Amino acid sequence: RGLIEVHDFCLRYETMEGAVDAVSDVSLNVQPGEFVSIVGPSGCGKSTLLNALAGFLTPSGGTVTVDGEAISGPSADRGMIFQQYSLFPWKTVRENVEFGLKMKGVSRSERERRARTLLGLAGLTPFENHYPDRLSGGMKQRVGIVRALATGPRILLLDEPFGALDAQTRLIMQQILTNMWQRLKISVLFVTHDIDEAIFLSDRIYVMTARPGGIKAEVAVPLPRP
Ligand code: ADP
Ligand code: ADP
Repeated sequence: RGLIEVHDFCLRYETMEGAVDAVSDVSLNVQPGEFVSIVGPSGCGKSTLLNALAGFLTPSGGTVTVDGEAISGPSADRGMIFQQYSLFPWKTVRENVEFGLKMKGVSRSERERRARTLLGLAGLTPFENHYPDRLSGGMKQRVGIVRALATGPRILLLDEPFGALDAQTRLIMQQILTNMWQRLKISVLFVTHDIDEAIFLSDRIYVMTARPGGIKAEVAVPLPRP
């Protein structure tokens, strides 16, 4: 059984102009420890699907489960990374990373220990006392990933996380993400419209289309990782 199981997922937005069927009958799964990408053209419903997995949207049809249980809302067990990550500007890098742990009531010393370990893995130690506005876009996104990982999620959901970065920074970020994924043994579901990036990073790729039944192909990637 998959850690994430999506069966015949449908999502309809109700708008002023009427209903929009954003996703129809999509099925997929993610196994524990697997790195899975979803690729597809803009507007096919990738963000919508990811938002449902994060718990921000409720399915209009079908089922979305984690560990066999229907998703009932956002959870620290599923970290979500958007293209534009909004860090708290009034908090330092380390305070940003510690925030979720503080909310969970983790002690100060334990928060510091966990934050420092993850910041080290992401190469952010020299920046731990900086404020976000002093960081480049790539650095901010790095902090965002570390922040999402701090509470120990089993699943990381990423929606075009590197879309706004230049090619060189993107490459570095891909390596950091791969490194974190391998070390922390989490499952990753990664949305991109860049098929090369998906091939480079993933165990498996779903190709999504805008028509009902949304998944066009499922591809296992046998290539070595970066
Ligand atoms: P993708 O991430 O693949 O670009 P989206 O999930 O953003 O696709 O969008 C899928 C479809 O749903 C598109 O037709 C989009 O215009 C529509 N859509 C997305 N968000 C909303 C919303 N909040 N209200 C109405 N329609 C939406
Ligand atoms: P992407 O293609 O990167 O997924 P979009 O530019 O399609 O993102 O959407 C950006 C935001 O706008 C999302 O929050 C999405 O839900 C919302 N959105 C997209 N399409 C519509 C729409 N037709 N009506 C209302 N909101 C929309």
